Amino acid sequence: MSEIPLSARARAITDSITLAITARAQTMKAQGVDVVSLAAGEPDFASPDAVREAGIKAIRDGQTRYTAATGMPDVRAAGASWLSRVFGLNYAAGDVIVTAGAKPALMLGLMAICGDGDRVLLPAPFWPSYVDIVKLALGVPVIVPAVPEQDFVHAGAQIVRAARDAKAKGIVLNYPNNPSGAVPTRAQVEELVAAALEAGLWIVSDEIYARLIYDGREHFSPARCSGAAERVLVVNGGTKSHSMTGWRIGFLAGPRHVVDAAGRIQSQAIGNACTISQRAVLAVCNESDDAELRARLRAFDERRRWVVQAVNQIPGLTLATPHGAFYALIDARPVCRRLGYDDVELAERLLSDAKVALIPGGPFAIPGFIRLSYAASMKELEEGVRRIAAFLS
Ligand code: PMP
Ligand code: GLU
Repeated sequence: MSEIPLSARARAITDSITLAITARAQTMKAQGVDVVSLAAGEPDFASPDAVREAGIKAIRDGQTRYTAATGMPDVRAAGASWLSRVFGLNYAAGDVIVTAGAKPALMLGLMAICGDGDRVLLPAPFWPSYVDIVKLALGVPVIVPAVPEQDFVHAGAQIVRAARDAKAKGIVLNYPNNPSGAVPTRAQVEELVAAALEAGLWIVSDEIYARLIYDGREHFSPARCSGAAERVLVVNGGTKSHSMTGWRIGFLAGPRHVVDAAGRIQSQAIGNACTISQRAVLAVCNESDDAELRARLRAFDERRRWVVQAVNQIPGLTLATPHGAFYALIDARPVCRRLGYDDVELAERLLSDAKVALIPGGPFAIPGFIRLSYAASMKELEEGVRRIAAFLS
């Protein structure tokens, strides 16, 4: 029988590179290969006890049925209070919907505001899934080239120019940034938001790493900028700060008519976020003592400091200190030139020959760089970096 082609949309979508390389490292490990995986963007800590207990209690109490597609009313209310208490945002329960993770929140938000070839700016470097999520929303991703010389934070004028050139309708901002770890100052955020507003853009602000910040820096949400509330969609949740990657739970907040539209899309495409996970995320929203979070942060910080000094000792590699998230974006351009590889081939060789899994910068729109995740034990980091150094020498 002749083959019926897949849809154009399906053909336009690639596998998630971060998930694919992580899975490949896991398969190699299962085959008995001694791989050090510094690929996954996933905390290596267990979910906090309070989260797990809340999930267990939900199951015991029989909270296993459908909920409203936009989420249980008390979870929406708790999400709104959490966004206010922790991030200084001003949302009512009706402005927040509960989603099956930050990824679906991005998908639903982008589907609500763009389509039919609308251009969406992606300031590089960016999490590779943005490209495919914009395409799934029938938009067109437009890369704004990375500015490593500006510590990876674009100036307002660069955004205005890119928006005008592309006739863009939206922009995705992600601070703290995956993969650069950039955390802009309040003034920089205000400049970016003023530029986006001047250019008439929707702003999707992915703040999933907002609580993983070091060096006394602070997160300032674009939604707090003057005049921004009507134009900004905020994506957040406990995925990274509370090691909840597998629970598939998050929040989308923004102007009421936009989150209502996103909720309608969710009602048809997904239904509700897992009921048990909704009860579990309440433990994040209602957390009154953040001592455990601070302990996890201290562990990430210790690893970060170690990685920065260790990587910078390897000839040909440089690493600017990341101030947020848990990634090290290593400049490997001199090494690539010397070996005649691009970053994809370099990562490939590091995995096949040195048995250390990293993600190439190309899919993040920062070719010549490689991303190392320091959400791994010190032992793994030491061994991984030792292997990289040995391979390159
Ligand atoms: N945004 C960024 C920048 C990420 O790195 C990730 C990776 N998980 C996500 C969103 C998705 O988070 P979630 O697991 O909550 O869907
Ligand atoms: N966001 C994580 C990363 O950047 C992995 C999960 C995913 O890509 O969905 O590695």
